[in-house]
Amino acid sequence: MPLDAQKNAPLVDAFGRAVTYLRMSVTDRCDLRCTYCMAEHMVFLPKKDLLSLDEMARLADAFIRRGVRKLRLTGGEPLVRRGVMDLMGDLSKHLRTGALDELTLTTNGTQLARHAEALARLGVRRVNVSLDTLDPARYAAITRLGSIEKVLEGLDAAQSAGLSVKLNALASRGPFEAEVDDLIRFAHGRDMDLTLIEEMPMGATGLNRSDSFLALDDLRMALAQRWAMTNLRHTTGGPARYVRLAETGGRLGFISPMSCNFCALCNRVRLSATGRLYTCMGQEGSVDLKPALRGDKAQLGPLLRKAIAAKPRGHDFESQSVSQPSVRRFMSDLGG
Ligand code: SAM
Ligand code: SF4
Repeated sequence: MPLDAQKNAPLVDAFGRAVTYLRMSVTDRCDLRCTYCMAEHMVFLPKKDLLSLDEMARLADAFIRRGVRKLRLTGGEPLVRRGVMDLMGDLSKHLRTGALDELTLTTNGTQLARHAEALARLGVRRVNVSLDTLDPARYAAITRLGSIEKVLEGLDAAQSAGLSVKLNALASRGPFEAEVDDLIRFAHGRDMDLTLIEEMPMGATGLNRSDSFLALDDLRMALAQRWAMTNLRHTTGGPARYVRLAETGGRLGFISPMSCNFCALCNRVRLSATGRLYTCMGQEGSVDLKPALRGDKAQLGPLLRKAIAAKPRGHDFESQSVSQPSVRRFMSDLGG
């Protein structure tokens, strides 16, 4: 193989899984403090520890050269990082060259109204928006700082700009179970997919997760009493399993890493905002790419290859208790 092709050979791990999907956290900060995600009084990283936007773009380039076809920005809240739209602009060149199939982001939607049109102009086709309830008071309680109107405006703006929207809702015991049918009707009535997420034991939030944890297997059984579901083969290569509901015609996804092992098909890796590469969300192991990025750039390729080769076979959530964080880092350090 010529040297250049060898340097940029696709990233394939020891189990033959090709890494084609990169999720990049652009900040650990957020304008909300969702109870399942963050502690009430969070200590965020000093800004000087974060990669610059230029460094993030260079890292993304390095992954794309080696076969990544899908890139998702996340956080924290990606839209609170200053200059993030410049980064999106920079990354969108890969859509135009055809090197990237998809550029997208996961957002809480609070700033989406301001950015939706620009995102669509850059070639973003769809966004994931997290919304766990339609009840303004519950929304304020879950997010501690948020107001649901802003998210609803964001959804309107996204759809007016032609973006397709998938809603993500974190499933929990209690009011959520009573409200989930309304969420389904809301999402499907607006032509949005809805994905239900099982709570993962990441980060010490100060709350006992076993008070809120709802196994999606149980929720799914309850939903099946009320909705006619057909399993779909649709997959994103990720943990979501989809069904179609006869009553709405819409798609409903289930992400249940605690009770269902999706790792055999895992095609993704995650980059923290400080430049650490995590090859498995459910494990602590990571490789710091910052020194290579800032120092001897020739080291970056071999480092990526070595890190991917060591991608674990799978996470270890099943053996953990839901009440204790099995992974000390918060979800917001890396994005979902
Ligand atoms: N701020 C953005 C948002 O909320 O969409 C992006 C980052 S957020 C960490 C990404 C997703 O992770 C959200 O859909 C959120 O519900 C989910 N999430 C946060 N903490 C979680 C946890 N402990 N278990 C499962 N999902 C979690
Ligand atoms: Fe912020 Fe998203 Fe975490 Fe909520 S889930 S606190 S919006 S990062």
